[in-house]
Amino acid sequence: MTHGNTIDVRDVHLTLGRGPVAVPILKGVDLAVREGTSLGIVGPSGSGKSTLLMVLGGLERPDSGTVHVAGQELTAMSEDRLTAFRGGAIGIIFQSFHLIPTMTALENVAVPLELAGLRDAGDIALHELDAVGLKPRAHHYPSQLSGGEQQRVAIARALAPKPAVMLADEPTGNLDEATGRDIIDLMFGAQATRRQTLVLVTHDRRLAERCDDLVRVRDGQVFAEETMAAAR
Ligand code: ADP
Ligand code: MG
Repeated sequence: MTHGNTIDVRDVHLTLGRGPVAVPILKGVDLAVREGTSLGIVGPSGSGKSTLLMVLGGLERPDSGTVHVAGQELTAMSEDRLTAFRGGAIGIIFQSFHLIPTMTALENVAVPLELAGLRDAGDIALHELDAVGLKPRAHHYPSQLSGGEQQRVAIARALAPKPAVMLADEPTGNLDEATGRDIIDLMFGAQATRRQTLVLVTHDRRLAERCDDLVRVRDGQVFAEETMAAAR
């Protein structure tokens, strides 16, 4: 693995489905993300962006190739080690928030910390909710929160374990434009102050342009794309 890359993907292949419905999705993906930088991933619907993000997050295992994240080879880990590693090193944000509806905002943020064995999980969770401006909503349930507020809770939950890597899959896809912009500002702000590595999947070219680097997924492979900043 090349020094300085927090994410390093080599020749990853992945077929989803079995037998007659098997579809090759990733066909030799190479990808490197330098430590502390942001990468935007664009590409048409169904091109495999979410699948690639799941591979980076250790939620989907490739059929072949290697995936290094934060100095660890995910492809060589047991399921248990991968789960533990994921909890501490990787934060994931989804388009549909994925909050637990029967838990308050505070509980949603605290529970993963408790599962990781932290005794002051509640304090950390409250601090993280405060950081996304949601302390006054700590005891509200997801159904009592707007979409933007729910995504803030999801961001607080993802940030709370202080992961080296943040992965976001169309995090503004269910939000109006102004709210989406606030969410993106929040994510880039957190990335800068915490020196995280951020991978952002979006079909919004303008959002992708805010990343340091940009790639496009096409025909199961990843291609570097010139950003407008680089073209100037
Ligand atoms: P994107 O995020 O770029 O829209 P996805 O990664 O979600 O694309 O999906 C890539 C392709 O994989 C799509 O054509 C989708 O239909 C297909 N796909 C996703 N999950 C499965 C599965 N379990 N079995 C077969 N095909 C799948
Ligand atoms: Mg997707």
